[in-house]
Amino acid sequence: GRYTKQDIIRMVEEEDVEFIRLQFTDMFGTLKNIAITSSQLEKALNNECMFDGSSIEGFVRIEESDMYLHPDPDTFVIFPWRPQQGKVARIICDICTIDHTPFLGDPRYILQKMIKEAEKLGYRFDVGPECEFFLFHTDDDGQPTTISHEKAGYFDLGPVDLGENARRDMVLTLEDMGYEIEASHHEVAPAQHEIDFKYDEALVTADNIMTFKLAVKTIAKRHGLFASFMPKPKYGINGSGMHINMSLSKDGRNIFDDPDGEFGISKEACYFIGGIIRHMKGMALITNPIVNSYKRLVPGYEAPIYIAWSATNRSPLIRIPASRGAGTRVELRCPDPAANPYLVLAVCLAAGLDGIRNQIMPPAAIKENVFEMRLSDKEKLGIESLPKDLGAAIAEFEKDTYIQEKLGGHISRKYVEAKKAEWANYRKQVTEWEINEYLYKI
Ligand code: GLU
Ligand code: MG
Ligand code: MG
Repeated sequence: GRYTKQDIIRMVEEEDVEFIRLQFTDMFGTLKNIAITSSQLEKALNNECMFDGSSIEGFVRIEESDMYLHPDPDTFVIFPWRPQQGKVARIICDICTIDHTPFLGDPRYILQKMIKEAEKLGYRFDVGPECEFFLFHTDDDGQPTTISHEKAGYFDLGPVDLGENARRDMVLTLEDMGYEIEASHHEVAPAQHEIDFKYDEALVTADNIMTFKLAVKTIAKRHGLFASFMPKPKYGINGSGMHINMSLSKDGRNIFDDPDGEFGISKEACYFIGGIIRHMKGMALITNPIVNSYKRLVPGYEAPIYIAWSATNRSPLIRIPASRGAGTRVELRCPDPAANPYLVLAVCLAAGLDGIRNQIMPPAAIKENVFEMRLSDKEKLGIESLPKDLGAAIAEFEKDTYIQEKLGGHISRKYVEAKKAEWANYRKQVTEWEINEYLYKI
């Protein structure tokens, strides 16, 4: 590891850290934390910090509600946006039951378990995410709106880009926290931005995504803006995706790379894609978890709909970005930033490994724009669509027993239960669109 317990105790003292936030993520991707003062640090590092799990959605029943937090010392970081005296730091924790065994409803544990499975085959799983988000204005009460006054577009720069100062501050803050920022730019829609940080081993990346959202929201607020990771906050313009770039390496060598293979990629890369394609419909409930996720997956806004792959063009679900050698990777374009990153990476790895173990060949790569292909051609090539709404995604998830097994019974059950309630609730709503469309006519 990066730090020992002693390192942390020393850093907390030297840096005058007063509060430590013990963080974890619930099943639905919400960051939770318990704050302790530095006087409780040693106890926490000895895994003696308890909390009441019954208050966390999807966790445990009342009778078995006491849980332990096991801090992961490597995740220690000081929040640069807090005061410089009496600083605030955080440590990400694993969640354990009363007898200190991993809690099966902890998404971080589910990812760790999948990573171990890959390690047994000699693989290291690296992931680089591309997080998109909107910067909106708040109203007079400080509540978020979907209003923005800016009109900038892809790669535009100031003075049109009002969010530019905020974004610059976000990048510097993230760098302060140890992120290597590879790119940041204005995205296609007005008020939409993207910040990309360097890929890393999957667990580190999932932790990084959670911290990234917290930092972006915090800095946006400082600039009087609201950062939203909602997949489709506005009708008629692009939504926000969280593309996931994945590679496997063995003994330090990227095994997706093969200069002699078709498109310069290896058999393993093809099988990995084959596995993702086989399980994509079943995984969609995890990669695109909310009602609103499916409003993004419609034609015309650079978001995928068809389950296909390409080495040359960016319209399908999976593409192979141009770089080869160590940078050879598979990009999955459907996940959105509402998803729980631990579970997303766990199911992607599970699907990919299923592909490799069972040598699942993907259908032929497509060369043309899938959105312009005729339906009959798509049918001939066996190109299917992603689930059309949350209800369809729930049904597909329930059919994919492999994905359910990899997430474990606890998460699969609780997750589906909550998603069914969400979908049932949505189906009862009467929307503004319906009123505008029908009220006067009927
Ligand atoms: N915003 C688009 C999406 O919803 C992606 C644009 C891009 O290719 O970066 O996935
Ligand atoms: Mg983008
Ligand atoms: Mg991308």
